[in-house]
Amino acid sequence: MKALAIDLGGSHATCALVEDRTILASRTVSTDGTAGLTPVLPLLAESLKALLAGAPGSNAAPAGLAFSFCGLVDCVRHRIAGTNAKYDDGPGLDLVAWCRATLNLPLKMDNDARMALLGEWYAGAARGYDDVIMITLGTGIGGAAMMQGRLLRGKHSQAGCLGGHMPVDFNGRTCTCGAVGCAEAEASTVALPGICRSHPGFASSALAAEASITFEKLFHHAGQGDQVAREICDRSLRVWGTALVALVHAYDPELIVVGGGIMKSADRILPFLQSYVDRHAWTPWGKVKVCNAELGNNAALLGAIPLLEGTADL
Ligand SMILES: [Zn+2]
Repeated sequence: MKALAIDLGGSHATCALVEDRTILASRTVSTDGTAGLTPVLPLLAESLKALLAGAPGSNAAPAGLAFSFCGLVDCVRHRIAGTNAKYDDGPGLDLVAWCRATLNLPLKMDNDARMALLGEWYAGAARGYDDVIMITLGTGIGGAAMMQGRLLRGKHSQAGCLGGHMPVDFNGRTCTCGAVGCAEAEASTVALPGICRSHPGFASSALAAEASITFEKLFHHAGQGDQVAREICDRSLRVWGTALVALVHAYDPELIVVGGGIMKSADRILPFLQSYVDRHAWTPWGKVKVCNAELGNNAALLGAIPLLEGTADL
């Protein structure tokens, strides 16, 4: 089966032509500096048409367009339900009608975390598992859950996808979502510079000399023996571990797939998370496996076929 796919993130969109578990061709559209989604739509249409014109792979016509969006999505009406200071015109747009008028294809959409899980389940690290949580550690923290082969969506399409907003510290930092002490507020790339600067020892730490602070640099300085970096590393690992245990208790998975940019330091993170979940999750049936995502930035695109086929729908 062939399909078109769009993965729309904060700064760019990737458009792709997909056949089963293979991305045949892709093109990237920058969305930096655009006022909303409306001016991006013609660029997306142009990209998708160019992909179709190239048409590598079999002669089959694409079955539809799978749209992965970096915000809350109404998975019944296939509309954007909520945004976070980017593409704020999204909820007012009828993308199903746009796709029909522009490409004469049906459109289905879901949020990016769920699409990434669907891709990893269909073509990556979660193949062969039907009870899976995926968590993406990056700028923010995304999450999605699959139970017994069905993607968890819930009445308002929000179930399972707010894993990064699982509170882990009620004395913690106020999160952009309105809650207190969310994992995303306590250990994500967007929160990290503020967390480091508020550490009482920051001025004497090697981190103070960094123009920008990332987890890669944090793990580097921790490895060099910097005390402040070590403390923040240790705390971040425990934040993620606590969130994973909460997700295990909520969704009863057999596998946790961890992805996202922070996993450049997977060799430091995965063994800790596996050991933390082994020690602290209550799973008398056995151990939950924690593994690295395999598909990187292609995961959401490779969720296109199961999304369009409805393979993991309730
Ligand atoms: Zn939050």
